Amino acid sequence: MRITTLAGGVGGARFLRGLVRHLDDALPAEPHEPGQDPARPEITVIGNTGDDITLYGLRVCPDLDTVMYTLGGGIHEGQGWGRDGETHVVQEELAAYGVEPQWFGMGDRDIATHVARTRWLGQGLSLSEVTSRLGDRWGLPRQGVRLLPMTDDPVETHVVVEDQDAEGGQRAMHFQEWWVRHQAALPAERFVVAGMDRARPAPGVLEAIRTADLVILPPSNPVVSIGIILTVPGVRDALRGTRAPVVGVSPVIGGRPVRGHADACLAALGLPTTADAVAGLYADFLDGWLVDDADEGASDLLRRHRGLVVEHRPLMMSDVPTATVIAGAALDLGRRLQRA
Ligand code: GDP
Ligand code: CA
Repeated sequence: MRITTLAGGVGGARFLRGLVRHLDDALPAEPHEPGQDPARPEITVIGNTGDDITLYGLRVCPDLDTVMYTLGGGIHEGQGWGRDGETHVVQEELAAYGVEPQWFGMGDRDIATHVARTRWLGQGLSLSEVTSRLGDRWGLPRQGVRLLPMTDDPVETHVVVEDQDAEGGQRAMHFQEWWVRHQAALPAERFVVAGMDRARPAPGVLEAIRTADLVILPPSNPVVSIGIILTVPGVRDALRGTRAPVVGVSPVIGGRPVRGHADACLAALGLPTTADAVAGLYADFLDGWLVDDADEGASDLLRRHRGLVVEHRPLMMSDVPTATVIAGAALDLGRRLQRA
């Protein structure tokens, strides 16, 4: 069984941890050599790298790291991103020198990840190779997880906002500046991905979609996480063409984005914050869609007009057990669609 998922940061990571837990629970109790267990499904995670940024000369990949720390047990649970037991000595020292920017929080333990990544990239390793090395430390292979960046080419999501003082009345800023510094409060006109015109999917990305038995879209941001992965050349076509059912989990609950600013992102596309609007973004390849009980009525239209299998259940990932149950439901829906 090969499961391929796309993922952003917190929503994707929490879902994936639930998926791994669900699959673990289903395994026989007998211990197996790592990688020797034929019953363990292989999970390929295609991670968003549009959020990536270079700060203080360090290459930072926030979404890949959130997935890695969450699966590896090193995540700051309350925050959902960054390391647990974190200290901030380096950034305090940098601030004392007046080094910019000071709006991006980066702890000491986290910095070590970025130093390692930047060093290995500098030695000529690809981002895929670096991500695999970092993931080894966090035990991803042992969990049957292969974390792939969507592309090895440097890409960055930029946000175009209105600015009367700028030429043409608009200016673009890095996604992180919009999201973290401005808390997505400046109305976005659109998102552009710098470097995507020259980008290629990372090795294994398209194969993982084409040869999967099941593709799952976790409840990640539909615009700036999943939406960005979908713009990598070939990814959308692979999703349309795969024989595997594609099952998505709504990131919108009761017309709200749960956490983060997905509403501001959907608004930039002229869309309301509804489970239906999100499904509409995936309409050309989606086979199954899990919505929260609160959105059951709202998805009636979809069910009738687009031939999509829509099911409803509680989708709030309050802790690991609830995320495990949600992941199990996505898997179950996928298995039923495989047979159908
Ligand atoms: P980011 O990169 O850290 O913003 O994380 P993602 O792109 O993976 O996902 C963020 C989105 O996940 C949020 O905008 C929410 O819509 C969604 N999300 C977060 N927590 C939950 C949850 O408990 N349940 C559901 N259904 N969606 C969630
Ligand atoms: Ca992100």
